[in-house]
Amino acid sequence: MTYDPDNIFAKILRNEIPSIRVYEDADSVAFMDIMPRADGHVLVIPKTPCRNMLDATTEQMAAVMKTVQLMSRALMVAFGADGITLQQFNEEAGGQEVYHLHFHVLARHDGDHLGAPGKMGDQAKIQQNANKIRAALTAL
Ligand code: AMP
Repeated sequence: MTYDPDNIFAKILRNEIPSIRVYEDADSVAFMDIMPRADGHVLVIPKTPCRNMLDATTEQMAAVMKTVQLMSRALMVAFGADGITLQQFNEEAGGQEVYHLHFHVLARHDGDHLGAPGKMGDQAKIQQNANKIRAALTAL
């Protein structure tokens, strides 16, 4: 299994296609999922290439998890959430569709259900939700 440098998240990292970024540090980026399954649905990726958790280095995992934790805390504040769900898929059999390591971070509320996957979100709503996350990050 090799890394395809033309996968969609590699293109996002190179700014070849747009994304709604909410956070970035030296080693990772967090941006809004365009098919959100909750108002707070963020993807966290390493800046360096790897397909998924199976070929990631411990440094890549550490960098991503640090940002996953930060984003989880921001989502709790931004959406008044009651909890956080993480999703992470590895290879086709594991449900992976984009082959650059990513973690889904989802804000959850008591008794809620995740929306259906694969449904394009409303761009204006996603932008609004991104603004809430950015504001929450500044207050952490
Ligand atoms: P998976 O590999 O199964 O985790 O699925 C890939 C995820 O990436 C899905 O939740 C898609 O909605 C999301 N996605 C695909 N293309 C983009 C994009 N251009 N910007 C943001 N999210 C995307």
